[in-house]
Amino acid sequence: METTKHSIGVDLGGTDIKAGLVSSEGDVSCRVVVPTDVETGGPKEVAARIAEAVRQVLVKAETQEGNSHQPEPTATLANSRQSPTVSDSHSCEIGVGLGSPGLIIAETGVVHFSPNFPGWTDIPLVTYVNTELSKLHTPKRVADINKQYKPVLRGMDNDVNAMTLGELHHGAGVGYKNLVALTLGTGVGGGVVIDGEVYHGSQNTAGELGHTVVEPNGRYCGCGNQGCLEAYAGAKNIVERIQEKIETGRSTILTAAMKDGAALTPRTIAEAAQAGDKLAIEIFAETGRYIGIALTSIAHILNPQIAIIGGGIAEAGESLLFEPIRTELSKRAMDIPAQMKIVKAHLGNDAGIVGAAMLAL
Ligand SMILES: [Zn+2]
Repeated sequence: METTKHSIGVDLGGTDIKAGLVSSEGDVSCRVVVPTDVETGGPKEVAARIAEAVRQVLVKAETQEGNSHQPEPTATLANSRQSPTVSDSHSCEIGVGLGSPGLIIAETGVVHFSPNFPGWTDIPLVTYVNTELSKLHTPKRVADINKQYKPVLRGMDNDVNAMTLGELHHGAGVGYKNLVALTLGTGVGGGVVIDGEVYHGSQNTAGELGHTVVEPNGRYCGCGNQGCLEAYAGAKNIVERIQEKIETGRSTILTAAMKDGAALTPRTIAEAAQAGDKLAIEIFAETGRYIGIALTSIAHILNPQIAIIGGGIAEAGESLLFEPIRTELSKRAMDIPAQMKIVKAHLGNDAGIVGAAMLAL
């Protein structure tokens, strides 16, 4: 059995399953999106939809063959498929990696718990997915690719750990061995790399950087604690914080937009800040300050070379968000830990797929 230089990364989310073909250089092609549809079926149905996403990636790899605009990875896949050394009787294994939200037991391929999948407890998802992959049916026109390319799920980890791995090998973390990553989205996720390996802790719960306490008697967090970073820097928390200030009578250009029915989001707040709105600038400065406080503790505990910050909210950019983070770190940290670089993630929307694909290697 031969093995390709490609792998398939699958990013399992509460709403969508995103997948793509990833080259050993970290280039993504043949992206597909399949609805997770977690309401209409249990873990085995979700496993079947993950297998369907993998099948669609392989179909895309096949149907895009010969397209001159096709990036190198697919061309290589097509070439190896046509290679005289690979006969129809051969099967060529292609590794699949899966990133899933929640507490994942990477060694055993089990989802212990996931807030996105209510009722899932200790689900052997890797086994379920491999069962579905082994009975994968492809349309007739790609039957040959199915015969030759046998997808096998080789690894699963927490989605943020996967993204961290992606940034380490193909993103902002290239060249570093000790780093932390923060993803600022609905929640605040974290990942830790020590000596080039993602650190899982004694029971797979390491890296919950979003639950670093930054305000002892502060806002309540979804985890039950008070004053976690996530309770300040999560998307809905940023919106709540500005709403509270608007309710106290603070003026902002956002008030007019809200009267027109526009929803407040971190993006609209960032746009207002870029237009010079004082309250919006203040909210981002405060968010950056809280991230800087959390990173000060993290820098003192782990002494990483670099902190990589990604997710939608990181799009607010250098002056609105990253400068306040750096200012806070340099104000608070001891001289050596304060040398930690703070940079934006490089992989953007592909981080989940690239990172998941790394789990297959
Ligand atoms: Zn928390």
